[in-house]
Amino acid sequence: MNTKRQERTVCAGEKNIKYILERKQVKNINLRVRPDSSIKVSASPRVDVSQIDDFVLSKAEFILKALKRFEAAAEAEEKYQRELGKAKAGQESLLADPAIFTEILDEIYPAFIPYGIARPKVRIRTMKSCWGSCLVNKGTITLNRKLLMQPRECIEYVVVHELCHFIHPNHSKQFYSFMEQFMPDWKERKAYLNGRF
Ligand SMILES: [Zn+2]
Repeated sequence: MNTKRQERTVCAGEKNIKYILERKQVKNINLRVRPDSSIKVSASPRVDVSQIDDFVLSKAEFILKALKRFEAAAEAEEKYQRELGKAKAGQESLLADPAIFTEILDEIYPAFIPYGIARPKVRIRTMKSCWGSCLVNKGTITLNRKLLMQPRECIEYVVVHELCHFIHPNHSKQFYSFMEQFMPDWKERKAYLNGRF
């Protein structure tokens, strides 16, 4: 008989993958990597554990990638909180002056004037899961305060991305080719931001 919940470890090359196996009435084997880096697998009591181990192993690459991403995100969050604390205490901090946001917008915006876009207002907020967002109707762009710790090129990318939404309020092909005109290397800039929350 299987217990309802057990911890298991499989060896994926040089790395061990620890996961929590839960027995449930589910159809397939389900695997989830959570932001706290724990791995949860649920499977029907009928499925043999060796089969579940094999399944987890077959997902090793995906799991290790996800773990790396969550680790980088946790690190970035920690660093940000540390810098925020320093800034609040009036100590020297790596956080840029928020004025950099309007400075960058002022540099980029002129290229968008021919498209009839009014200069948007910039709002700054600390956001959990996105770097920027926009409200086309209200003419505002919201930028994540955490961008203040990222390279200028990345802030420029987010500003261009949001400005392009004023013409294409979606992530269609047209949106991306429109953005490419203004920033041919946007993919590299975006890639840098991945997993840095
Ligand atoms: Zn977007």
